Amino acid sequence: MIDDSLRRRLNICETLPTLPAVAVKIIELANDPQADIGTICQYISMDPVLSAKLLRTANTPLYKSRRIATNIRQAVSILGTHTVLVIALSFSLSHSLMQASLSGQNAAFDGYVFWRRSIASALACRALGEKLELSYLDDLFLAGLIQEIGIIAFWALMPEEYEKIFNATTDHDILLKTERETLGCGHDELGYALLKRWHIPDYIALSCINSHSQPEPRHLGPTLHSCLAVSRYLADYFIYPQEAEKMVALNEAAKDWLGFDANALIEVIKIMEVGLSAVEDLFELTIHHPSQVTGILAEAKELLLIYSLSRMKDLEDKSQRDGLTGAYNRTYFDETLQREFYLATQYNLPLTIAIIDLDHFKDVNDTYGHVAGDSILANVVKTIFDQIRQDDTLSRYGGEEFALILPGTPLTAARNLIARLKDAIAAIAYKFDGATTIRVTASIGVAAYQEGEVNFFEPKDMVKAADSALYAAKNAGRNQIIEWRK
Ligand code: GH3
Ligand code: MG
Ligand code: MG
Repeated sequence: MIDDSLRRRLNICETLPTLPAVAVKIIELANDPQADIGTICQYISMDPVLSAKLLRTANTPLYKSRRIATNIRQAVSILGTHTVLVIALSFSLSHSLMQASLSGQNAAFDGYVFWRRSIASALACRALGEKLELSYLDDLFLAGLIQEIGIIAFWALMPEEYEKIFNATTDHDILLKTERETLGCGHDELGYALLKRWHIPDYIALSCINSHSQPEPRHLGPTLHSCLAVSRYLADYFIYPQEAEKMVALNEAAKDWLGFDANALIEVIKIMEVGLSAVEDLFELTIHHPSQVTGILAEAKELLLIYSLSRMKDLEDKSQRDGLTGAYNRTYFDETLQREFYLATQYNLPLTIAIIDLDHFKDVNDTYGHVAGDSILANVVKTIFDQIRQDDTLSRYGGEEFALILPGTPLTAARNLIARLKDAIAAIAYKFDGATTIRVTASIGVAAYQEGEVNFFEPKDMVKAADSALYAAKNAGRNQIIEWRK
């Protein structure tokens, strides 16, 4: 929490930029539900720079208005009073603050990087809102722009101390954590205190603090601060596209705060692309050189696409695999065998299956414990995976029993492979307690479908055959392979 002495310092700090009179007046109007169009137009028109910016904004691609605004009153009627006030506030606040930080009051503070990130985050926040079809896009923009204002406050209050903390990382979450640990409060809280002092409307000020907390369950629907939180990660990627972990963090944040997948993020980036040059123009600051932007955005989209594909594959895989060993599960085995059996019988292709059961595995558990038993099972699976081809399917059929499907493989070819597997399992030397070596063997039953032989009518007939061969192998003394014969 922000302590009293810090709050006092904030209140009397002279190095903090003061707000220009227009900004103060606009904040006052923004807080006044009774403010009328006439008064708003009058105040904005008093500042020619602000008026010009507002008019240009109203006519940018950010507002898909078919009407062109040529004066403030028209802009107000096209955009609405609230929007005009919020845009005016964005400009007047950022203008004075940017001037102060770019004029180099403090040589160590890189105001250029700070504002590039803030503007990128404002654009991102607005784009997220557009994707979510929210109505308060300009509030999102303003909040995105000023959510990190606490960083400026820290630089003003304690430049030497803050320089060390700030320059140690480009990771925003780490920065926040360090601030909380070493300075007693984060830039989110300090920023909130500053925004309150300036009488920035509470819903904006509060969202800047809430966006720095943990994401809450999404049943409330998208909120101003959840967009804000994600906008920071988007901005970070945008400013530091060469740092791969920024993209990973962005994906996580978008999922946690808004339930967005990579495809939704791609759409958001496309929306940002449309508004980028207009925003750069209005704030007279380039986020990236135009020649770089296309490349960065194209790469972001490509990365996201790869991410979404690998994630889908991941999810699909997880539901198909056994958690302990990584072998496929029984359901996957059944489906695969069904398909391969159909292909083999329909097109007369060879197909071999094998059931592998570890010998006296109960004794291994009883002697060395389940934990050792579990690692041995995982080891066995890895050993088998190392020997088989991509097309072969290994699944965990039961506790210490595995089934192997070898499509397109006649018995003669399968024989060699299965013999190698048996030897490889027997060769596993599992170290227990650093001293004892545990060894296991396997009994294997094999069944093959061959062209011209009509032995099996259904997939389960093949499984039954392999099972009875396995039974025979156990009876014959274990650690051996038996092929099923009619
Ligand atoms: P055999 O197959 O040679 O006849 O003897 P066995 O002892 O291997 O066979 P049995 O079917 O009697 O016992 C299988 C044992 O495998 C029982 C259990 O202790 C062990 N087992 C099964 N699933 C797991 C598992 O997930 N983890 C561990 N650690 N052990 C398992
Ligand atoms: Mg066994
Ligand atoms: Mg068994």
